[in-house]
Amino acid sequence: MKWNNVRSDIRALSLGSIASNWSAFDVLELLNFTQHEPIVLFGGLVRKAISEHLSTKNVELGGLLLGNVISNKDLIDGIVAIKITQAVPSQTFKSSCVSLSMDANVWQDANIHGDATNFVVGWYHSHPNLGAFFSGTDRSTQKNFFTNSYSLGLVVDPIRKEERWFRGSESVELSADNILRTIDGLALV
Ligand SMILES: [Zn+2]
Repeated sequence: MKWNNVRSDIRALSLGSIASNWSAFDVLELLNFTQHEPIVLFGGLVRKAISEHLSTKNVELGGLLLGNVISNKDLIDGIVAIKITQAVPSQTFKSSCVSLSMDANVWQDANIHGDATNFVVGWYHSHPNLGAFFSGTDRSTQKNFFTNSYSLGLVVDPIRKEERWFRGSESVELSADNILRTIDGLALV
């Protein structure tokens, strides 16, 4: 399936629209975090869903990440945060330098659950007992399929309990400080 199956009317949420009930301190803290790289808001429920999916088999598994992009400007510049709202697991997963193969219904599910402000913001996959790092193949996958400024790549080693996050077509690694492992129901989520 190709990326043009993803709806074309997607847009970012403004910081003002999501931060209306935050204190000035929260907003300043968020902006402070994001001087260099956006932060990722990674809530407990979606974290649990990913970890359960990736623990089902000791082989490479993966899926898509849905989320909101929070930006001072648009989907290209001024991105402050990317909030992961949902994981869409694939039953089958195979990536190589030139292709990324997942169930066709994964892309369909992602579109069904998505809307203009909640859309595919990246992908995740596992490296069981190999360590969480982005391989050359993973970098190619990111460059070929997840090229937007907000596109995230999450790699998890479910056995060693490691995770790493990468962003954009050049797979820039995000610092662990930029990943806010938020608790569902709190203001930041
Ligand atoms: Zn990999």
